[in-house]
Amino acid sequence: MWTAWRPDATAVLKDKKARASLARYFAVMLDSKLAKFIIAKKLSADFNKRDSLAKLWKLHDQLTEEFYSLQENFDSHQKQLKQLETPEKSYLDLKLEIANRILENCHFCTRRCGFNRLNGELGYCKCGTQITVSTMFQHTGEEPELVPSGTIFTLGCTLQCRHCQNWSISQWYEKGEIFSPERLVKPVEHLRKSGCRNVNLVGGDPTPWLQQWLETFRHVDVNVPVVWNSNSYYSEETAKLLAGFIDVYLLDFKYGSNECARRISDAPDYWEACTRNHLYGKEYGELLIRVLVLPEHLDCCTKPILNWIAQNLGTWVRTNVMFQYRPEWRAHEIPELRRRLTEAEREQAIKLAKEAGLTNFIT
Ligand code: SF4
Repeated sequence: MWTAWRPDATAVLKDKKARASLARYFAVMLDSKLAKFIIAKKLSADFNKRDSLAKLWKLHDQLTEEFYSLQENFDSHQKQLKQLETPEKSYLDLKLEIANRILENCHFCTRRCGFNRLNGELGYCKCGTQITVSTMFQHTGEEPELVPSGTIFTLGCTLQCRHCQNWSISQWYEKGEIFSPERLVKPVEHLRKSGCRNVNLVGGDPTPWLQQWLETFRHVDVNVPVVWNSNSYYSEETAKLLAGFIDVYLLDFKYGSNECARRISDAPDYWEACTRNHLYGKEYGELLIRVLVLPEHLDCCTKPILNWIAQNLGTWVRTNVMFQYRPEWRAHEIPELRRRLTEAEREQAIKLAKEAGLTNFIT
């Protein structure tokens, strides 16, 4: 089915550790289980557009529990997709309705700008209502289990990391191409049909575009794992909407202290948001965590991050300790970020991962 893009992308199919921590992802990738968004479309949701937001959330919380028991029925083959009618309104439709309301008073991310994006107001991320795409292609540079990954880069981000490698995308230096959700359906399906193991939603950050992604996947009709490739700075409301929609949480864990997050990424309350969202990811899907090691941030960031992961998410969780840092964009504004990692720092990061007890990390 897949071209052997990279030897490790083939070898990972037999990697017991990767398969154990991402078991359901592998099953969906191999079409032996259903992606969450497909199941979500089969779960009936009784609501109407006049319902209050509080009422919609109450129903959503109830249906989230029902969703996971329905998923279990599908996974154990007690239920087949064709046995269930498609409801008039589904759990996925309910998520979309809630996302529409959030756009009126935007709080998709921790910044909670509160702007009415439906009225043309733009918040910190400068995202309006028309999803804007930089590129989409079969990405061969991701973790081996994801490659080839059907990656869709959207413009805009909820952070301004001074060292951002995708700064032309995240900060709107590119114009991009506007898509309607309906027009995104075919490219998404094409990525899967052309051999991608997943659809990988990234940017910038996918968070500001959650409403458009929910609308897109209402119409997608191929079984494909959905990967949420994010900076982890999204709100709790977004975390709830992702449950029952996202298969793999590919989450950055950037900082071990709020002071570093504020100074480097302009991200108040990063630690609280990031840890909460990782816990949501663990409860409602499968995690693949990225820890980008930054020069001179091993004690304040790498160490507490790796320890927290081991203690709260499990020592077996798939963690990519990344050494790819290079100074980009405005990294020169942060003195210690003007250089790449040293060999000693790389060795120290591996030592920290081992000392934390992590047994399933890659570099
Ligand atoms: S997604 Fe954008 S507009 Fe919405 S709260 Fe975050 S930064 Fe503000």
